[in-house]
Amino acid sequence: MKNILRVENIKKVYGTKEILKDISFSIDEGEVISIIGPSGSGKSTLLRCINLLEDITSGQILFHGEKIKANEEYRQKVGMVFQNFNLFPHKSVLENIIEAPTRALGEKKENAINKANEILSFLGLSDKANNYPCELSGGQKQRVAIGRALALNPKLMCFDEPTSALDPSLTLDVAKLIKSLSKTGMSMLIITHDMEFAKLVSDKIVSMDSGKIIEKHIYNKCEII
Ligand code: ADP
Ligand code: MG
Repeated sequence: MKNILRVENIKKVYGTKEILKDISFSIDEGEVISIIGPSGSGKSTLLRCINLLEDITSGQILFHGEKIKANEEYRQKVGMVFQNFNLFPHKSVLENIIEAPTRALGEKKENAINKANEILSFLGLSDKANNYPCELSGGQKQRVAIGRALALNPKLMCFDEPTSALDPSLTLDVAKLIKSLSKTGMSMLIITHDMEFAKLVSDKIVSMDSGKIIEKHIYNKCEII
């Protein structure tokens, strides 16, 4: 299996506080990896470093063997679904999804709308295209956030705590959605503190505590019925 992302010995220091202490792991093409750990262990910081929202203090992050750079290509290939979704509140669902392809990639509006409609249909949100984020439930907002990331055809999708803002009964729906995305060959990196959820969706689970990796487990993915 080919590596898509490789994190090598990264450290992150804020002031005098070492938040990430020598973190290394890799994700293969098509693989789903969950990083699990208690609150404050550095999970979101790690994801923010991978998404270039933070600089790393030392070490390196490689994407297809090359050091990551803050350019459009990398931003397009690595999608991010934030814990609080970060939707544009003044834009409709459809406008949220076409924003990046039209603005960042210069895609024609008509093409972007066609593709957004396909994504909304895949996510079961076709009837919400013209609604605004404040008119949606938490689960629907999250699906829009996923749709917005999908609109750029990412190779790797990162999720920060995809179940934490949702009603527990929706956890299984998120797991099913992640499974159907993984069947398309998309690699995924999921940050969570929910071990049961991680076991449902992951090929590998990496446990983190106090900025360090303490365990790596390989799972046989089970089917969700
Ligand atoms: P987790 O996502 O596992 O809950 P975080 O990565 O959010 O953990 O935070 C890890 C630690 O880093 C926490 O102690 C937090 O207070 C600290 N931290 C996060 N962001 C910053 C920042 N911008 N400046 C200083 N400290 C930060
Ligand atoms: Mg966090």
